[in-house]
Amino acid sequence: MSHIKQVLSIIPSLRREGSKFESAELQNIVREILPDSRVAACLRHRLSNSSVTVSTTERGNTRLGGLMVCDSSHICPVCHSRKMAKEQQIVSRIVHDHYQAGGILLAAALTAPHQVYEPLSENLDQMESIWKCFRSPAIWKRFADKLGIVGCVRRLEVTLGANGWHPHLHVMFLCKSEQAKEITGHSWRTALDDAFHIVSTHWRQAGGKAGIIINENAQAAVAIIEHIDAQRTVNYNTKNMGCCKKPNSLTPIDLLRVVAQSDNGSVTYAAKQLFKEYATAVKGKHTLTYSGSAKLSRNDAVKSADAASTDVVEDKLGTISPDAWSAIIRAGLRGYLAVVKSRRELVAIVLRAALRSGHRHIPLRWMRLAFTAKTKTVIRSSAISPAPDTMVTLCM
Ligand SMILES: [Zn+2]
Repeated sequence: MSHIKQVLSIIPSLRREGSKFESAELQNIVREILPDSRVAACLRHRLSNSSVTVSTTERGNTRLGGLMVCDSSHICPVCHSRKMAKEQQIVSRIVHDHYQAGGILLAAALTAPHQVYEPLSENLDQMESIWKCFRSPAIWKRFADKLGIVGCVRRLEVTLGANGWHPHLHVMFLCKSEQAKEITGHSWRTALDDAFHIVSTHWRQAGGKAGIIINENAQAAVAIIEHIDAQRTVNYNTKNMGCCKKPNSLTPIDLLRVVAQSDNGSVTYAAKQLFKEYATAVKGKHTLTYSGSAKLSRNDAVKSADAASTDVVEDKLGTISPDAWSAIIRAGLRGYLAVVKSRRELVAIVLRAALRSGHRHIPLRWMRLAFTAKTKTVIRSSAISPAPDTMVTLCM
């Protein structure tokens, strides 16, 4: 059986949780598959000789401070999830402002023809070459005039199904209906027919220019989005790649779930090989690209998303020494620590790590619990929370 068939056979029993605990556990799988990648050090390696601080935030999250963060968009389950949540806010703001200014959104899914056994890198190269031709002045200018396009946001997504790798583009075209010269339909249905015809025809022309034959019906899907459905479209077009629930396809994060959940050695081997292929093929590619008005308004949207994503450390639970942190990693308790919500839970995990390291109790200096007096520290997604000023040493 091929690698693809092997991993797809697991879908009926695959659990797709999407929790923070699961993300930390799946990050361990990436480390197993790609030990030399930055993901292998993410939320694992300490920054210099610092201790690890554990806090909860106003929004009920757990924050581990003093650790390296890899910031990888494609292959780190933890960082991908954090970054996509922020991009979703940025795109929401851009789209909201666009509608406020009287604009309308056209959403399209575009792809290139592919065969079951084609390597992902070839599929991606083909799609990129079609997109490049699509954006060339000869095609893009006519296309943008017909639909009144003033900007666009493009997301690259890669899934795996019975027909092999399926890289595709979700594109949100920001249009001004009064500038759309060739949307002549007087009903919603006929306007959609016009829009589909224009998008698919130009995508096919771009394919022809790139030397690739495009089937308009198979390689393009188009929807005109009403304001009321805009947020749902933005959510879908900026979704976390770990959130797919489709019964017939797998996301890259699902490949990690297959490794984590399957007891079949040949299936986990197949999933690891496919994830490796994915990691190599997408390296350096942008998940989201903005152009035209979307690019121009992105800076303001980033500021607005930063303000919205500002979280506040509500309760510093304590600090863990480098020795204790190493013991937690060795004992496989990192994922559990990443979701602790109280001092009691923190102590329980450090105690488990101590017992598994051969101690009979938590060694002195392994952990300091913070006083319960609440402190307020404004943090952003990339900030590391400072160590608490006042701590009490726990002796057991
Ligand atoms: Zn990461």
